[in-house]
Amino acid sequence: MPEKIPALDGAAPALGDMEGAAFRKAGHEMVDWIAQYLDGVEGYPVLSRVRPGEIRDALPPSAPETGESFEEILADIERVIVPGITHWNHPGFFAYFAISGSGPGILAEFLCAAFNAQGMLWRTSPAVTELEEVALGWLRRLVRLPDTYEGVIYDTASIATLHALAAARQEAVPRVREHGLAGRPDIPTLRVYCSDHAHSSVDKAIIMLGLGLNSLERIEVDEQFRMRPDLLAEAISRDRLHGITPLAVVATVGTTAVTSVDPVAAIADICDREQLWLHVDAAYAGAAAMVPGFEATVDGCDRAASFVVNPHKWLFTPFDLSAFYCRRMDRVREAFSVTPSYLQTPNSEPVRNLMDTGVQLGRRFRALKLWMVLRHFGAEGMRRRLAEHIRLAALFASWVDASETFERLAPVPFSVVCFRACPPGLQGEEPTLDDLNRRLLDDVNATGDVFLSHTSLDGRFALRLAVGHIRTTERHVARAWELLEKRLAASWS
Ligand SMILES: *Cc1c(COP(=O)(O)O)cnc(C)c1O
Repeated sequence: MPEKIPALDGAAPALGDMEGAAFRKAGHEMVDWIAQYLDGVEGYPVLSRVRPGEIRDALPPSAPETGESFEEILADIERVIVPGITHWNHPGFFAYFAISGSGPGILAEFLCAAFNAQGMLWRTSPAVTELEEVALGWLRRLVRLPDTYEGVIYDTASIATLHALAAARQEAVPRVREHGLAGRPDIPTLRVYCSDHAHSSVDKAIIMLGLGLNSLERIEVDEQFRMRPDLLAEAISRDRLHGITPLAVVATVGTTAVTSVDPVAAIADICDREQLWLHVDAAYAGAAAMVPGFEATVDGCDRAASFVVNPHKWLFTPFDLSAFYCRRMDRVREAFSVTPSYLQTPNSEPVRNLMDTGVQLGRRFRALKLWMVLRHFGAEGMRRRLAEHIRLAALFASWVDASETFERLAPVPFSVVCFRACPPGLQGEEPTLDDLNRRLLDDVNATGDVFLSHTSLDGRFALRLAVGHIRTTERHVARAWELLEKRLAASWS
């Protein structure tokens, strides 16, 4: 028997939410705090300097028994949390992909939390479903995809690729929804193809879909790190000969290490001929298609079955928001639509319910931030910012090319430069060079002014500078170059 719940004690604090006046006061303080943080972000080291466990140990192991004031909480954010933040907002952040939020995006997240609308059904907030359609329509036109693609917002590109391959599986494997894959003698080994440089999210999707990693064939790239379509065609023929059933190809527009672009049109020819699902992963570089002179970035993508681009990567939309476009969204619905009676809606509502387009039931109101960002900056404002990032990367690459102590390791199609220190006399000394570059990277990052990351190219340790933050200017890129040159000179002399 449950214990009897005591009646409310008149002396206890009132129930209900934070009181209106207190919310207003704290809210104003918070906005001031954020504005000050963003304006002063260059005062922090980019890469957090805390030790493992330091944040956890600075906080009590149990929740406070009685509520605390907003002032106390904010004080702990400054004292404990901020030191544990790696400042993705720092204009010297050049690691991985320098993803960027923005003022209108931050305000939109604020509003999104306030509405707390959950868009599983059209009726659970018609604006969530319909604004998603509108914002994704705007983005689709900006990145030059035809209107025949239906869009849906997921959290990340990894989840978008998972849904793309699930739709491919739904199309290729009879009654997979009902019978699955295990224990079926009627289903041969299935194969998915991508390049050596495709993102690890393809591997994860394959694991998740029960295909097994042996079903993934990585096709070699050419000297510019692009998938070789001739080798793709060969692999498909060889597989067919051995009774393996090709399922899908994932082409990448803007690979994660070097931002190379697979020859999508040639790959689409093969997919058409072989009747394979073509998914294009343009998580980062899809955005570039809106920049004048970069229209060719998405050549052939209009022939893909599905396409993903991340506004949270290079379109100034706070993490997370991934835009998935699909010409066969009916396959996604076929794969995932399950409607228990409590979620049934009258047939008189001829609407799209977001819960049908994927694994998640609940949907955040993510469209709000994309729509507010696009409205605030306008298409022209977005284009100019992306073009400036591309210019800054080209400038940095020109410094590398002109230097006698550094060398470039890959073409620079967009805003990422792969390079390394290679002082005279060390050419060809690969282990020494790897070691030197590893130390140089740590050394430069320890200054706190910049944060660069690394990758491995043809077995060589490569430094990687990615421009993408909305506050990054020529001064910051020049600072990165100055630090690299000075630190190399210091360690080398
Ligand atoms: C960043 C990236 C991803 C993964 O993005 P998430 O949204 O974090 O899942 C996938 N593919 C490519 C090419 C990427 O650059």
